[in-house]
Amino acid sequence: MEKILLTHAHIDHAGGTAELSKEMGLPIEGPHKEDNFWIQAYPSRRRCSLSGAGGVHADRWLEDGEEVTVGNQTLEVLHCPGHTRGTSCSSTGNPAGMVGDVLFQGSIGRTDFPKGDYNTLIRSIREKLFPLGDEVSFIPGHGPMSTFGQERASNPFVSDHRS
Ligand SMILES: [Zn+2]
Ligand SMILES: [Zn+2]
Repeated sequence: MEKILLTHAHIDHAGGTAELSKEMGLPIEGPHKEDNFWIQAYPSRRRCSLSGAGGVHADRWLEDGEEVTVGNQTLEVLHCPGHTRGTSCSSTGNPAGMVGDVLFQGSIGRTDFPKGDYNTLIRSIREKLFPLGDEVSFIPGHGPMSTFGQERASNPFVSDHRS
């Protein structure tokens, strides 16, 4: 392992990364700085027993259009707000890499968390992810992989049949 790449700062994705980065000496890249809001909220959440994310710090915030390298791969960063304001997906190639909790097979990320926004999320999916191509598959933060074409055809939230 060479680094920890975060799509967004929710505890189910970023929890434990502070310890991991300290123990293994790994830098943390991402998410977008808008998610600092969630990181700052961790200490109070920890008191409600969601433990493990205290002290996460990004060694590098990710901006739309920037590149991150993982091994010998170079990925383009796509800022895809909606689920959280600072969600950063990584694209390039096929599969398109990580989309965090933006898009799932047959579903989309929740937008009922603080600063989540449904319309913003739909726009992120349609304007940032779908243009990558129908044949491109993606790795969601939860559940099985899918392709953007399959979601455009059948996802009840963002399919082409839904305006
Ligand atoms: Zn999330
Ligand atoms: Zn999640």
